[in-house]
Amino acid sequence: MRVTYAHMGYMNAPVRHMLESLAVEVVATPPVSERTMELGTRYSPEGACLPYKISTGTLLEGLDSGADTVVTMCGAGKCRFGFYGTVQKIVLARGRKIAFHTLDTERLLTDLYRFLRQAAPAAGRLAVAKHIALVIKKLRALDALNDAKNFYAPRAANPQRVIDTCDYGAGEIAGSDDFAEVNSCRELVTETMRSYCRAGAHPPPKVALVGEFYLLLEPYANRWIENALVRQGVEVKRFVHTGGWAYAKTLLQFFGFFDEEREYLAQARPYLNHHVGGEGLKSVGTALWSARHGYDGIIHIFPFGCMPEVVARYALKNVAADYGLPLLTLSIDEHASEVGLATRLEAFVDCIKRKNQGSRL
Ligand code: SF4
Repeated sequence: MRVTYAHMGYMNAPVRHMLESLAVEVVATPPVSERTMELGTRYSPEGACLPYKISTGTLLEGLDSGADTVVTMCGAGKCRFGFYGTVQKIVLARGRKIAFHTLDTERLLTDLYRFLRQAAPAAGRLAVAKHIALVIKKLRALDALNDAKNFYAPRAANPQRVIDTCDYGAGEIAGSDDFAEVNSCRELVTETMRSYCRAGAHPPPKVALVGEFYLLLEPYANRWIENALVRQGVEVKRFVHTGGWAYAKTLLQFFGFFDEEREYLAQARPYLNHHVGGEGLKSVGTALWSARHGYDGIIHIFPFGCMPEVVARYALKNVAADYGLPLLTLSIDEHASEVGLATRLEAFVDCIKRKNQGSRL
């Protein structure tokens, strides 16, 4: 069994380490690139959303490199994510003999456990359970590291140094073999990033980054928006996290401690009163929370044609108008230009910095 799976931000390296530790052969795919996007677009229905196209592209790259087993995810709910597994199975199996495993996000823990038991028959139950727990621990540590980078980089004389330290630390955490090593690495790297901060500097402007799940988590898809912002001296808070999601969808959901719809509905009211699929409710709820907690602007990023986020967009306009906050809406498709995005981002940052200067006078 030679396994491949789709790319999504910093999830890939720890998952690969987990599979290889269980003696499962992994066909590593290169980071998402223009070629991935071209491949995915060529083999996808025209109206498919960008995350579908990118994940199809990465799976095709894996199959071209010799993989014979594909692992994908799909979920129930009111958006196209529910169809990913079925459609990809048809598209990818054309002219190939491959095994296909779909992990349903509504029962992620049991599906993942079953797949690992099948893929690693020599590993005992305890080993599989330990590796699942360890990969969730690593992903949550990577969330914490990314948050720390977004906090310390705009306060540092050289933000790139903080970004590089974070990237180095992420590699170390992904390859760690036990829980204590993950903790000590996270603490050491966070402390190093903190040490680069300038003493006595003004607190930087703070921006809330909300939107569609995959676009927030895959840096290629969002054109490294977080790093672009912190380099311009803006603190960023992203409200969707890979590790937080994996933890909620496996352990919390399995033990009945997680009710996504109820949690976000309460947060989004009165601007959005219904579950609209995807991260729509969460986008509105977290934007509202940010507006009430002193943030200076909101960036809403989503794939072109994503219905949940199009609905959220209207509610976000009302939040921004009521709280007097600048709102930047970025709808991304495969033709989005990096230069165009950078220009819009610079103009937005300029706008919130001027607004802050004005309010300090
Ligand atoms: S949330 Fe939007 S982009 Fe993401 S899978 Fe659903 S429809 Fe597609």
